[in-house]
Amino acid sequence: MNFETSKKLFEEAQKYLPGGVDSPVRAYKAVGGSPPFIVRGQGSRLYDADGNEFIDYVCSWGPLILGHAPSQVVKALREAAGKGTSFGAPTALEVTLAKMISAALPSMEMLRFVNSGTEATMTALRLARAFTKRDKIIKFAGGYHGHADGLLVKAGSGLATLSLPDSPGVPESYARNTLVAPYNNSEAVAQLFKSNPGEIAAVIIEPVAANMGVVPPHPGFLERLRRLTSENGALIIFDEVITGFRLAYGGAQTVFGITPDLTCLGKIIGGGLPVGAYGGKREIMQMIAPSGPVYQAGTLSGNPLAMTAGIETLKALSQPGVYEHLEETSANLEEGIIEAAAKLKLKLSVARIASLLTIFFTEEKPTDWDSASKADTARFGKFFQQLLSQGIYWPPSQFEAAFVSLAHSDQDVEKTVKAIERALGS
Ligand SMILES: *Cc1c(COP(=O)(O)O)cnc(C)c1O
Repeated sequence: MNFETSKKLFEEAQKYLPGGVDSPVRAYKAVGGSPPFIVRGQGSRLYDADGNEFIDYVCSWGPLILGHAPSQVVKALREAAGKGTSFGAPTALEVTLAKMISAALPSMEMLRFVNSGTEATMTALRLARAFTKRDKIIKFAGGYHGHADGLLVKAGSGLATLSLPDSPGVPESYARNTLVAPYNNSEAVAQLFKSNPGEIAAVIIEPVAANMGVVPPHPGFLERLRRLTSENGALIIFDEVITGFRLAYGGAQTVFGITPDLTCLGKIIGGGLPVGAYGGKREIMQMIAPSGPVYQAGTLSGNPLAMTAGIETLKALSQPGVYEHLEETSANLEEGIIEAAAKLKLKLSVARIASLLTIFFTEEKPTDWDSASKADTARFGKFFQQLLSQGIYWPPSQFEAAFVSLAHSDQDVEKTVKAIERALGS
């Protein structure tokens, strides 16, 4: 496979964009080499500037659950764009999408649209602090919630990929209010509540961790967090930016049967356009301006293009059989990988929940950041390059999930499994 055009573009990009990219993981630092520059996507496929074709398991890091350029979304976007891209005034589209989301995740009695997951989590924390009149929050090591200051502490994939413990530029006084517990360790959370009585505003968690590779919650873990937060007058915030409309139409909270106080969404609800949302109990959400004193605003928030892509994507996802189909495709991929590894007598672990999957170069499935971070990242880098050269666009980091979409066919999976077997064997 020839990457000459991409290489030239990457050199040029590095003159103007730090690292040549607009988001760190795209620069392939963890796996080496230079990233293909993409010109087009269609269904499960990506096409780069050198004319190479890939089966895509990044899917824009989650939003593209329908695959690239789904016809109904593209058609609706064309129509919407023709009517104007942003008004800075209310539209019926915002109400339509809010209603669809609230019906899917009933804990979100009210919600507010923003432009990214980062904005959603940042504001959810501001709101939780205002509501509880407390400053501290608890997050989990390896949990990523966007790049807001107080959340860039032990924040998983992006930082882990670059081996940055935490980011400079975050004032110590912010970081001090962020307490960190190991994922799947509710006892540690209980201890933090004990040692910080009346000070913790919220626990924020990815109900299925997907930014240290896929790490599902142990049975009872989320339930105990729900109890601990209630007993201590704190809120529990589910960061469902990845899991929302991914694990199921109703997200992780429906799958695990837990009602969070606040939920953050992003990725899928924007159908590939920039969107986030936060929402929850009416009593809490009514503290947001202009109904309440907690300020948050956005020039392009709820713009008609993003709302249209979200509405069309959720419409497609609400059809019967959609999640069953995704489950089947993803399970086939998982089984194929496990069989290939067994054939080669390789010790690795495949973590999967719904259409999220990570191949960990570890003997045991990781349960938290400590165990995930022991993965053989050099081995992963080789594996990644082997896959890329066979036309498989796998996430370029050991600590990111692969995303399966509705556009991935059985033949795609078959081809992928063969390529994975070759990559693992070489
Ligand atoms: C991607 C992600 C975010 C941040 O969303 P952006 O739109 O990239 O700002 C927050 N939380 C989780 C769990 C994510 O995966």
